[in-house]
Amino acid sequence: MKTASRTLNLDTPLLAVVGKKSVTALAAKLDLHTVGDLVRHYPRRYVKRGALTDIAELQVGEYATVLARVVKTTLRKMRNRPDEYMQVELTDDHRGTLRCTFFHPERLQWVIVPGLRALFSGEVSTFNGTKQLTHPQFEAVEDSEGVRPFISIYPAAHGLTSAQVGRCVRQVLDVLDDPSDPLPAELRRTEGLADLGRALRRIHLPETEADFFGARSRLVWDEAMGVQLALALRRQRAVQRPAAPSPHVPGGLLEAFDARLPYTLTAGQRRIGEELAVDLASTAPMNRLVQGDVGAGKTVVALRAMLQVVDNGRQAALLAPTEVLAAQHARSLRSLLGPLAQAGELGGAEQATRVSLLSGSLSAAAKKKALLEAQSGEAGIVVGTHALIQDRVGFAELGLVVVDEQHRFGVEQRDALRGRGEQAPHLLVMTATPIPRTVAMTVYGDLEVSALRELPGGRLPIATTVVPTAEKPTWLQRVWARVHEEVRAGHQVYIVCPRVGGDDKTAADDAEQPDDGGGDERRPPLAVLDVAPGLAEGPLKGLRLGVLHGRLPAEEKDAVMRAFDAGELDVVVATTVIEVGVDVPNATGMVILDADRFGLSQLHQLRGRVGRGSAPGVCLLVSDMPPGTPARVRLDAVAATTDGFELARLDLELRREGDVLGALQAGRRSGLRLLSLLHHEEVIARSRGYAAELVADDPGLAHHAGLRGLVAEIVGDEERAAYLDKV
Ligand code: ADP
Ligand code: MG
Repeated sequence: MKTASRTLNLDTPLLAVVGKKSVTALAAKLDLHTVGDLVRHYPRRYVKRGALTDIAELQVGEYATVLARVVKTTLRKMRNRPDEYMQVELTDDHRGTLRCTFFHPERLQWVIVPGLRALFSGEVSTFNGTKQLTHPQFEAVEDSEGVRPFISIYPAAHGLTSAQVGRCVRQVLDVLDDPSDPLPAELRRTEGLADLGRALRRIHLPETEADFFGARSRLVWDEAMGVQLALALRRQRAVQRPAAPSPHVPGGLLEAFDARLPYTLTAGQRRIGEELAVDLASTAPMNRLVQGDVGAGKTVVALRAMLQVVDNGRQAALLAPTEVLAAQHARSLRSLLGPLAQAGELGGAEQATRVSLLSGSLSAAAKKKALLEAQSGEAGIVVGTHALIQDRVGFAELGLVVVDEQHRFGVEQRDALRGRGEQAPHLLVMTATPIPRTVAMTVYGDLEVSALRELPGGRLPIATTVVPTAEKPTWLQRVWARVHEEVRAGHQVYIVCPRVGGDDKTAADDAEQPDDGGGDERRPPLAVLDVAPGLAEGPLKGLRLGVLHGRLPAEEKDAVMRAFDAGELDVVVATTVIEVGVDVPNATGMVILDADRFGLSQLHQLRGRVGRGSAPGVCLLVSDMPPGTPARVRLDAVAATTDGFELARLDLELRREGDVLGALQAGRRSGLRLLSLLHHEEVIARSRGYAAELVADDPGLAHHAGLRGLVAEIVGDEERAAYLDKV
């Protein structure tokens, strides 16, 4: 051990305390470099001294450290080689048996003996029905932990064991004076939180269970505050750049549009419409998320906002996630607007504007025309995909950006969209993916949220059924019969496959490919290019079939969608290119093949493509996964409820949190270790309140160095530098 310096603090490089070999390993394997990094590397769990790890609870695929008793060891000869290896059978003294194999047992065979209790680490796998640890590492217990009541088990890596990490942590804690606490004393008092030094000691070296629970509930605040302060600072920055106000213009396009709307707006559409009208009239840039379940009627809400901006002589851009959706939006906006979108054309209304579509597939001449219309301001509304609009378009005067159906649209992308001009455009994000409250407060924490709860009247529920072909192979015939029934009744059907086909083996257009383990040995997912011809020749012979996937040239995609829209096709066999936003009210059937290959929210989105008109929809989830598997649980959940909020919550439970919170962070090691979107709703909400107050009192956090440090843990590198530099 090196000098116990009194000036040790969280920024001190580990080399000041820990031996060089360990420092190298901690940096290389766990990306830990400073004292702060290491003390914030919390134990994953604790083993009570004496209590063996419950082997039945170990998950296949996890890297686990278990405290177990050696039952028996066997030395064996390798086939075709002189080397020996040692098989070790472990028990937890209940039901569990675990096997490990050590190669080069020359030294270990004298240490690992029946009756020994020790820590074994490795990746959990199964072989012939028995759990085993691959690449096991072994440590005797007593060397590693003295006589503490709990053994802390750390996230470890191959070549760096939990106990090695623990030793380094203890060395650091031995010499670390109480670090200065980033959380204001007032906050800690109100919330009843331990100070940082004590919490760190207790989370690493608990004496009682209450110690580590208490420590965690304090340390989770550091993360929640980091997130909320980062967001509060962003909100603050966003307001600093003013927007051009676009108030309601009497006698304008918007009023003309409302007069020709074929239906009455729902109460929700009207309410959100009023919110948007107020936001747009302000010089504070609007920053709003409208969330409404599939089919809630978000398009018309967005269009009305766009028209208010156009009435002020400015432009609006509508960004769609796919070319298919962009083309469809352009079509449906034009048809909703009718003569109001025909500026300069015969029959165009007097105050009419134009809707331009910017699509990758346009001919060079058409693209040039669209770009010119955007530049000159002739196009009041420009529709396109994100990439296209972001890179290529100069607007005459952009007043509003609408982002449709892009629930993975991170904070940074939103910043980029707002551009660098003197005035910021207003921003409206629309999503049908319901967002649990905690996610709304984190990933979308810089946005105001409006919810569009009710669906337009007359919607009929969608009946969803799981078709389990493993148990009931004959049900597949019923699926095709059902497709025929829908078509005979004058309706249309989507059939979705996870993969395009042709030469690719796995790549779908953008399927989420949930990982249920053991995916490798399964057959490749069904592909559009294989399924479609089979159906056309077989069970769906006689129906008019179209094919749609991401690899088709854009004009062909558009032609297929157009034909389906017009009722010239009965069935379209597609990938998830039809996942979001596509709106063909006459489509009533959705058959999803290999449904287990899709994520929860994808399935909900796909199902939302039907039942949009006045006829009831049917959704059939075809899967050969056996009951009880995680994939089937997901399908049963989708079949059991059409409540998007319920499904979103489940999705959050089934998905790793990192996927969700990752959107906040630009590809660096996560500063979030304890904060859970599922479990810390209360902390997130409360820290949001504190963050708003702190930033209002101390813009830029000039007087709160500790809090700036917490923010730096959360945000991406570029922004991080900005916070660290400021003193
Ligand atoms: P989403 O919210 O999923 O984007 P859309 O905007 O595509 O939903 O609307 C779904 C369908 O509902 C469209 O066909 C649209 O014309 C129709 N619609 C929207 N608002 C109403 C309304 N107030 N009354 C009746 N139909 C409506
Ligand atoms: Mg939509």
